[in-house]
Amino acid sequence: MQAWQAVAAVVLAWILYGPAADGWFRFVDPRVVRHVRGAAAPAPAARPTPAAPAAPAPAPRLIALTFDDGPDPRYTPDVLRILREHGVAAAFFLVGERARRHPELVRAMVAAGHLVGNHTRAHRHAYLLTPAAAWREVEEGARLIAAAGGGEPAWFRPPWGSFNAAEWLAVRRLGQRPVMWSVIAGDWRAGTPPEVIVRRVLDRLATGAVIVLHDAGGAPGAPAQTVAALPAVIRGARQRGFEFERLDRLVDGWR
Ligand SMILES: [Zn+2]
Repeated sequence: MQAWQAVAAVVLAWILYGPAADGWFRFVDPRVVRHVRGAAAPAPAARPTPAAPAAPAPAPRLIALTFDDGPDPRYTPDVLRILREHGVAAAFFLVGERARRHPELVRAMVAAGHLVGNHTRAHRHAYLLTPAAAWREVEEGARLIAAAGGGEPAWFRPPWGSFNAAEWLAVRRLGQRPVMWSVIAGDWRAGTPPEVIVRRVLDRLATGAVIVLHDAGGAPGAPAQTVAALPAVIRGARQRGFEFERLDRLVDGWR
């Protein structure tokens, strides 16, 4: 075999393992939750009386709020406080190494009724991991989250939304359900004003939306923008007739 053929074979194998597998899992595989169709709760039954035919109350249009990359002691406590003040149950996709350093925040999430999911051990990009390393990232992330008090994660979100074939097998083997998102606001980038985050989320909302925001990671200080935007995101969504449901309940209600 000539050198160029060897290089071409390696490149082709890498494309099949990373980008091609990623495209398949992200956009085709029905197991991956992106947006929950039919997420409207059943409308309360109307009971018309002869005197006053009752109009059915509009069904709440359910959406799910999720946070990635935490926990971070600088920002996660503020997110938890805002969620508590507004009565919202969210899902947190945790980085295992961060969960290990801040187990008190993991326990606070569980105690407050939030869902804790796996966002791998160290947030490495799937395309750059060997099969064995990809498997370990998924397995170790779940183990560290469980050891920190988050329970055995049943949900998984890949870092940067990118899969490779080995990561996918690990997620399946460990019985975790992959989740992507349908509403993303660029809140991890430096210099995104909170009002821009609010507008991007509210403009893209639809029934069954899965919103992703970040309580850690990204550009230095970026989660402060998310914290500043969060109350207006929650209020604005409710003003538009949406109600927040925890991700697992939103999906289970639909299935
Ligand atoms: Zn992430």
